[in-house]
Amino acid sequence: QPAQGESYLERLNPEQRAAIETTDGPLLVLAGAGTGKTRVLTTRFAHILLTGRAKPWQILAVTFTNKAAREMRERVGTLLGNPAEGLWLGTFHALCARMLRRHAETVGLTSSFTILDTDDQLRLLKQVMEPWRIDTKRWPAPGLLGVIQRWKDRGLTPERVTPTEDTDFANGHARAVYEAYQQRLKQLNACDFGDLMLHVTEILRTQPDILAQYHRLFRYILVDEYQDTNTVQYLWLRLLAKQPDGSANICCVGDDDQSIYSWRGAEVENILRFEKDFPGAQVVRLERNYRSTRHILGAAAGLIAHNDERLGKTLRSGREDSEGEKVRVIGVWDSDAEARSVCERAESLRRQGHSLAEMAILVRAGFQTRAFEERLVQTGLPYRIVGGIRFYERTEIRDTLAYLRVLNQPADDLAFERIVNTPKRGVGPAALQKLHACARSLSQPLSAAARTLLENATLKGKLGEQISTLLATLEATRELLAREGHVVATEYLLEESGYLDMWRQDRSPEAPGRLENLKELIRALADFPTLGEFLEHVALVMEHDENAQEARLSIMTLHGAKGLEFDIVFLPGWEEGVFPSQRTLDEGGLKGLEEERRLAYVGITRARKLALIYHAGSRRIYANWQPSMPSRFLDELPEEHIARKNEGGARQQSLRTTESLFAAGPLTATPGLSPTRRPTPRPAPAAPAFALGQQVRHPRFGEGTVIAVDRHHVEVAFEGAGTKRLLSSFIEKL
Ligand code: ATP
Ligand code: MG
Repeated sequence: QPAQGESYLERLNPEQRAAIETTDGPLLVLAGAGTGKTRVLTTRFAHILLTGRAKPWQILAVTFTNKAAREMRERVGTLLGNPAEGLWLGTFHALCARMLRRHAETVGLTSSFTILDTDDQLRLLKQVMEPWRIDTKRWPAPGLLGVIQRWKDRGLTPERVTPTEDTDFANGHARAVYEAYQQRLKQLNACDFGDLMLHVTEILRTQPDILAQYHRLFRYILVDEYQDTNTVQYLWLRLLAKQPDGSANICCVGDDDQSIYSWRGAEVENILRFEKDFPGAQVVRLERNYRSTRHILGAAAGLIAHNDERLGKTLRSGREDSEGEKVRVIGVWDSDAEARSVCERAESLRRQGHSLAEMAILVRAGFQTRAFEERLVQTGLPYRIVGGIRFYERTEIRDTLAYLRVLNQPADDLAFERIVNTPKRGVGPAALQKLHACARSLSQPLSAAARTLLENATLKGKLGEQISTLLATLEATRELLAREGHVVATEYLLEESGYLDMWRQDRSPEAPGRLENLKELIRALADFPTLGEFLEHVALVMEHDENAQEARLSIMTLHGAKGLEFDIVFLPGWEEGVFPSQRTLDEGGLKGLEEERRLAYVGITRARKLALIYHAGSRRIYANWQPSMPSRFLDELPEEHIARKNEGGARQQSLRTTESLFAAGPLTATPGLSPTRRPTPRPAPAAPAFALGQQVRHPRFGEGTVIAVDRHHVEVAFEGAGTKRLLSSFIEKL
């Protein structure tokens, strides 16, 4: 009997207690958001240790993200009163990597094997594909990699892929290529991400001795976010959990309404299989939500009730004290107004005493973050991008910025070096060296050196052709820039350089997001009168540095927010085509739509005190404004739990709509990302009028006095940083 530490059980309700005290046997905790599933798991971990049922290293605990693993480690440490060490606690991949290092030789690797990233995987796959002479126009390598990954998600080694499984992808050669790819990986003593799970599962399936070792080691297994496990993860769990005598101490917690990773092969069916695979399994339901106020719960429950495929659960507020505030549904004029409104609210909530650390902006897609980042930099509110990279630091954005820098400034050698072989033009280290040598001897920039080397035929053949095409494209773009402006020129450049095609052909799950980010970049470009001013602006946003200590507002995707909670949650972009996403609407299936709705449910239920949902009357997609329809999810929210507000003014909204419809001119010759229209010229954002002598503040340079003004710029004498000419949109009046 544990003498101390009983108190941790007192802080639980009876159902939670039951879930913790039935330590032995299979247990499934199926419960809605915020009902304490993760808390049950963490407490169960501590309870097993405190009651002496197992040593810390005899518990296998699976979390969904590394962040969750860290949190769990901390929570367990706090409950135990000392930092727990030597734990088998982490994500599926982290745990499998550790196991695979121990038994690497069983699958023909050594324990120092490398884990390949996506780039390496693709390069390797392309080499492997060669002998089959597969038409890579029809069957591009990234697509095949996707097929292989799905097989791996389902636990299918090449031998286990049956002929009927073999898709007609790559003329029926997919399975053979898969096999060759796996062999090649072994020769390289490498594996890819999917292999971590696949290899270990295969080892457990075929090596009874090893399986027996783990059966002795792991007395208890705990799994969070169970609804998002895929088949191979499920197989792995089942192998480890089922002891030779048929018993299994496995506890899985999950919520079918929060299953949001079906595109990664997750199967909700695993929940239904649980009771079959583990006979005698107990199912505990938790119905009391301790996270959110009654209105937030009511709104979320009303929304998710529109899904048909549900196991069905009840959710009551455990915080009877707090009715709380209704969920706000705020209509704004356009996406700029949305960013402004969100940031102003965050600022004013902070003034009322809410910490920024307790606020989050949760977006559907990565491209949405840019508008908020810029607005936050401008207002000087500290923020962080969680689980992602700041907009202007993303690969595709940096590549494009490099293109634009070369366009703007042909002597920008750093930028030229970045683009000359992106997409691949066969410019290897040797060719680059030649370019550098020539540039040095002529004291010219690289691009000029390239031209010289072409003229004297040092660069020739296919490589010469490709470089010459690149230079010609840049030249043509410069002309277009002068004639048609920087938005049209950028679209043209990205298209003609082959850069967009590079991502269109990429079948990795990130590729569509990258294309969306590029659209968003072009959207941002249109806000500036010239290319030069845009680049200057970006340089400033990128320089904005972070102070690690201060409380910061979080920006992250809805997917990344799973399992987390905040006092205040902003949910922008609830419009058809953004959320639910355009891809889901295009596919048209009910399944996709239900998954989007679950994502919306995840979003609302992250909030403890206040949820604010935004929809904009128009959004600039690519370079032109398009009227947008409020998301269908907004109609599904029960009226009694929400308060609607229109900050845009319906009249203005319809004016904007008419304007953009009229302005949507004929298609231009440039094939764009989507049907490209001639960008609607939009009046540059009205510069806030600054008066000479006015006191102002800049996020980086601090306070100063205005000493000169023109349309977009203000010259300011700063107290610390000297005199600077700056974009007026960055400066705030005091
Ligand atoms: P999600 O489905 O979003 O992952 P969850 O079911 O894992 O949610 P937790 O994160 O464990 O829920 O708990 C939600 C919040 O409620 C946490 O802040 C937790 O500390 C609190 N909580 C859980 N159980 C209780 C309880 N019995 N009394 C008070 N607070 C509780
Ligand atoms: Mg949880």
